[in-house]
Amino acid sequence: MIPVPVNEPLLDGNERAYLNECIDSGWISSEGPFVKEFEQQMAERMQRKYAIAVCNGSVALEAAIAALNIGKGDEVIMPTFTIISCATAVVRAGAVPVLVDSDPLTWNMNIDDVAAKITSRTRAIMVVHIYGLPVNMKPLIALAEKHKLAIIEDAAEMHGQTYRGKPCGSFGDISTFSFYPNKHITTGEGGMLLTDDKKIAERCRSLRNLCFLPSQRFLHQELGWNFRMSNMQAALGVAQLERLDEFIRRKREMGKYYQEALQDIPGLQLPVAKTDYADNIYWVFGIVLDDEIPFDARDVMARLRDEKIGSRPFFWPMHEQPVFQEMNLFTGQQFPVAERIARRGFYIPSGLAITEEQMSRVVTVLRKILI
Ligand SMILES: *Cc1c(COP(=O)(O)O)cnc(C)c1O
Repeated sequence: MIPVPVNEPLLDGNERAYLNECIDSGWISSEGPFVKEFEQQMAERMQRKYAIAVCNGSVALEAAIAALNIGKGDEVIMPTFTIISCATAVVRAGAVPVLVDSDPLTWNMNIDDVAAKITSRTRAIMVVHIYGLPVNMKPLIALAEKHKLAIIEDAAEMHGQTYRGKPCGSFGDISTFSFYPNKHITTGEGGMLLTDDKKIAERCRSLRNLCFLPSQRFLHQELGWNFRMSNMQAALGVAQLERLDEFIRRKREMGKYYQEALQDIPGLQLPVAKTDYADNIYWVFGIVLDDEIPFDARDVMARLRDEKIGSRPFFWPMHEQPVFQEMNLFTGQQFPVAERIARRGFYIPSGLAITEEQMSRVVTVLRKILI
């Protein structure tokens, strides 16, 4: 029985050579040359003017909220179906996350719901592209322009994806990435902010580095964080970015394999392969169980685990998080689509290092469980 991990990164390019450069040169901190190189290359690839590397994707969102001066009394619209980092960043800033439900097919934020939630206190829309298919940006940008709202684009699952031919990561007043090992490119831990606004970029740089005053070190006019990325992380990033096109090609092949092999199993909702604005890049290959299947995602995941096959549950909605209920946030709110896909959804092994043999085993075992 060959085990199939839920994710394994591919690190067989120039990663080792560039890491050795860090060690040989002694440049291991954030002052090393790979950080600037990685920033420049990401900015270029995502068609942005400025890129600011940070130590993970969650703090990128915190810095984004701070850089836009979002705080007490402000509202930020975001999907309830997302990672907690999105809501944490807003709550920590003293602002209020205003949640919207998901689209039942794409699992992305429901844009009609966004329109319905705009108030005089709304400052920004946090767009989160889910699992490899972008949010339909055109109507969302129109809403943001009409109501003069900032867009924060969380593109953590979208390196190399495009929306109508334009890179994901190019749509936000601030866009953010994560480079966690299950993302399309990884630095172990890492993140990035992207923007075209010089002032916002300078503020992000300052917030990342404790807000040292440029005119006098160890003097501070405001509170920042140490969110810096090390040269070693950036070295991995540069090596990984060289292979982004190849990685996206592999992910699409993985998606195509699963789509074809799983389509005839009754009772499974598979990811949307294609819309008129994007082809899925399958950050993860998600499956939602139809109502006719007599058990929940957790039951299927337990059965997969017995067979040494890794899987992960879908996001658990923000309005159902104990920590936020404790804070009296989202009391009594209901989002039926997100609640349903959280309970009925899971994803199967979809990492970059996956082999056809492994995928074939996943399919065989899923058939055994479900048919
Ligand atoms: C992974 C992820 C993050 C968080 O990134 P970390 O680097 O793990 O902090 C944020 N948003 C989304 C949508 C993600 O998928």
